[in-house]
Amino acid sequence: MNNTVNICSVCHQAVLPEYYFCPNCGNNLKEVLKPVPIINQIGLYLLAILLPPLGLWPGIKYLMKKGKQSKWVGAITVVLTLTSTVIVIEFTFKFLNDYLSQISQYL
Ligand SMILES: [Zn+2]
Repeated sequence: MNNTVNICSVCHQAVLPEYYFCPNCGNNLKEVLKPVPIINQIGLYLLAILLPPLGLWPGIKYLMKKGKQSKWVGAITVVLTLTSTVIVIEFTFKFLNDYLSQISQYL
């Protein structure tokens, strides 16, 4: 006999282990790797670009997730965050240098 029948956690119907959804109630039986919605991706990338250090944590969170796409989203977010952090630091130093040299002209 087939003793590897699973039980649906919602309606307690016996379901085959290869089923992704319960045929009785439509419950998600396996953790289907959901694609990251495009709006979430855009939000993450904007966060990474506009507020550099803040993009790092969600980026790492996505990197830890299962699924190729989540890992890609995480990797892109981390790379964008690091890139824009470097740019912000460079701009800050450049601005400070210009500012200081302007001040020293007046002194
Ligand atoms: Zn069910």
